[in-house]
Amino acid sequence: MNQMIEEFLNQNRGEIEALAHEIFDYAEIAEQEVKSSCAVARFLERQGFQVTKGIGGMPTAIRAQWGNGRPMIGFLGEYDALPELNQPAKPYYCGDPSRNGHGCGHNLLGVGSAAAAAALAAAMKLQQINGTVLYYGCPAEEILKGKVVMLKNGCFQELDAAITWHPGMENRCGELSYLAMDSIQFFFEGQAAHASAAPFKGRSALDACELMNVGSNYLREHVTDDVRIHYSYLPNSLKPNIVPAAAGVWYFIRARRRDTVNDVTKRVMDIAKGAALMTSTQVRWEFLSRGYETLINFRLCRLMHDVMTELGHPGFHTREIEFARALVNDPVEKKDEDVLDTAFDEPSGQAVYMTGSTDVSDVSQVTPTVSIRIACGPKNIALHSWQYTACSDSDIGRKGMLFAAHIMAEGGWRLMTDSELLNQVQKEFRENASEFKNLM
Ligand SMILES: [Zn+2]
Repeated sequence: MNQMIEEFLNQNRGEIEALAHEIFDYAEIAEQEVKSSCAVARFLERQGFQVTKGIGGMPTAIRAQWGNGRPMIGFLGEYDALPELNQPAKPYYCGDPSRNGHGCGHNLLGVGSAAAAAALAAAMKLQQINGTVLYYGCPAEEILKGKVVMLKNGCFQELDAAITWHPGMENRCGELSYLAMDSIQFFFEGQAAHASAAPFKGRSALDACELMNVGSNYLREHVTDDVRIHYSYLPNSLKPNIVPAAAGVWYFIRARRRDTVNDVTKRVMDIAKGAALMTSTQVRWEFLSRGYETLINFRLCRLMHDVMTELGHPGFHTREIEFARALVNDPVEKKDEDVLDTAFDEPSGQAVYMTGSTDVSDVSQVTPTVSIRIACGPKNIALHSWQYTACSDSDIGRKGMLFAAHIMAEGGWRLMTDSELLNQVQKEFRENASEFKNLM
């Protein structure tokens, strides 16, 4: 265990925690993270990193570099908030629904990863170790866009390994596989007419949307169980007395493998064409994002697990457990460890399939990547809730963030200084990676 890392985190704890609070307050949603990205950039500049802003085709993305040469170990950070999820660090709802909030804890995520990068750089500087520490500030994770666009523009390919984390409800070493996903908007165009006086002159774009959804719902029976298809109508302010000339519907299509998503997306496109044919309308579509499934690197997961267990969980104070209990209305009889997780999962060498998606998966396709999960809230809540926003500015969240930073920095240190370990990680990646094609 590298003592320098621990010392750095202890000495800079106040500044790291204040930064997470600052970004919590900004609560900037996807692609608007101007203040948040600048705050992280300033922190890393103070730690001796060279920062470039607006990289990879994303104005709020940053790349920060410390050191030179190989290995090049990268830390990935996110800092986007979610619409309407404002809530202060109180165990009862008192948020302002007109304001945004960090319901996914990305204020902790972005800062925890930056703290890990800074701690690793500080340890390397003191011990005169060669290598490059990189921090990628990745915007717009919540719309599954940032890393996909950054990758298309050449980011991440330089890395020998990438390390990241996500605040969660339990501690996990990263053997989690997220779904590949397409985000597509379909736009139908028809002919407006008075809906009562001359409906025969109209061609309804809304009818086309409805028929498309009916077709997609029939498709569900003929896809594999892992496939998820969900949709929502695009905003439309038309009144019922006009045959809608324009209407649109937004689809997410997900599956465990990219190939499956490709197949289902093609079938949904055929359904859209069929709906247009049935209604004498025109259809076009636009991809908002096309992401891959996670390529798990089990050697990296094992490394993270080893570090976690060697460090040991810092534990939770009574006041933190009380906050968590109040937040989820857990009865006092429930054991503390059933409220806030302090245990670690045992690596199994098998993927645990998740039902969500993340753009970290795309990075995992081009470089060995690990994303650990650290409990920053009670077991019994969901991400993207006001309860999780409350945790993201609480002592529980800050403790999780510092613990994550410590694990990631120590993991980075071992990859920097143990070439045999890095070889094993890269060998596994080469054996399992398939050719990556950016689909955007
Ligand atoms: Zn998230």
